[in-house]
Amino acid sequence: MTKVLVIGGGIAGYCAALAARRDRAEVTVVARAPGATALYAGAMEVVDDLDAILGSPNHPLARLGMDSVGLATELDAAISTLQLALGKEGLRFEGSWRSRGLYADIHGLARLAGVVPETVARGELGGLSGKRVAVIGVPQVGDYDAASTAQALKELHGIEAFAEEISIPELPQAASLTDLYGRRAPSPRARGAAIAYPPGFTNLPPDGFELLASPPSPHGWRLQQAISLGAVSAEVTSIETGRGKATSARANGRAFRADAFVLATGRHIGGGLRAGRTTSEPLLGLGVFDDGAPAASLGTRLRHEKYLEPAAQMRMGLMTDKRLHPLLEDGSVPYTNVYAAGAMLGGYEYSGPCGFGVPILTGWLAGRYAARQD
Ligand SMILES: Cc1cc2nc3c(=O)[nH]c(=O)nc-3n(C[C@H](O)[C@H](O)[C@H](O)COP(=O)(O)OP(=O)(O)OC[C@H]3O[C@@H](n4cnc5c(N)ncnc54)[C@H](O)[C@@H]3O)c2cc1C
Repeated sequence: MTKVLVIGGGIAGYCAALAARRDRAEVTVVARAPGATALYAGAMEVVDDLDAILGSPNHPLARLGMDSVGLATELDAAISTLQLALGKEGLRFEGSWRSRGLYADIHGLARLAGVVPETVARGELGGLSGKRVAVIGVPQVGDYDAASTAQALKELHGIEAFAEEISIPELPQAASLTDLYGRRAPSPRARGAAIAYPPGFTNLPPDGFELLASPPSPHGWRLQQAISLGAVSAEVTSIETGRGKATSARANGRAFRADAFVLATGRHIGGGLRAGRTTSEPLLGLGVFDDGAPAASLGTRLRHEKYLEPAAQMRMGLMTDKRLHPLLEDGSVPYTNVYAAGAMLGGYEYSGPCGFGVPILTGWLAGRYAARQD
């Protein structure tokens, strides 16, 4: 049985583990902490335009060397397996990568997404047209204003929205949205309206839905908790190599030996890339590229505030061959049993229309290639 070590506990590492286990590998996941997955807004953007992606040679999905039919088939398999697995952990998702809906966040701004939690799906803006929508506010919560959300829903999306404040006296002083997490959804006075809740409540009524979040995100936290089950909580500090292969990874004084390794350590938030004078990959010294050129030759330095915002430098990351082996700066493959997946891959904006598509699909394929040592 092939032993696969997945390093990284975000959505890419999770999909790699799913695929490798499906191919009967013995899989261990090592993750040090929640990464970007735990911050996602609650709307999985998978892909927008496969043909446009295939026309961008440095896009991680274009580098897989598949045509649009091949990518579509793999996306179908990866997403249905992911939805099934998350459903077993009690997190139900709706949608697919083939069509996208529009969902509002806590400020009333809309985001397109393919796959969303069941509790968000009911708030698809197209489906709300012609309905009255009560936006629930909690007067004790200082970082969210239901009245302005309702106004934005009206002005930006033509939804007949109004705010309804419901007091939750047992909340702590100066409460914030995070204090709502895990509480039972309060019932509004308004009847016959759809009900928009700030994210985090449980037991929503049948006509209730959750708005998307900004960080910290209850949607992200629920997802992160579901996908972290069974992972070893430790930081990989080094990877031993020899004869063109990785042999073991060291974490918390333990050596994890494996036949194949999936690196799914994320970008700057996850810790897969280190932003210094030049951006680097800390575990194996792999090549970091900006639009196909080695980042070391460019001398662009990331500023901290850019970590959350799309910026040219945020497209920096690893480059891989068709089998997801990461490259050195000279374009060679240093290790035949190491595969890279997720937001650590460069060539796309990870807060853009493939935010989850790249981690899901590359994770899925990396897990399979690792299990088969392809
Ligand atoms: C604020 C924010 C909001 C977003 N919202 C959306 C959204 O709504 N929709 C969308 O489609 N996309 C969104 N994205 C993008 C999306 O969240 C990420 O692209 C995706 O979650 C990346 O997944 P990942 O598994 O590649 O990386 P991560 O989730 O970052 O996971 C990396 C993992 O690697 C681990 N790790 C790193 N180094 C080590 C080590 N040495 N040893 C052990 N473990 C290690 C980390 O601890 C972490 O567990 C958002 C991103 C951000 C930052």
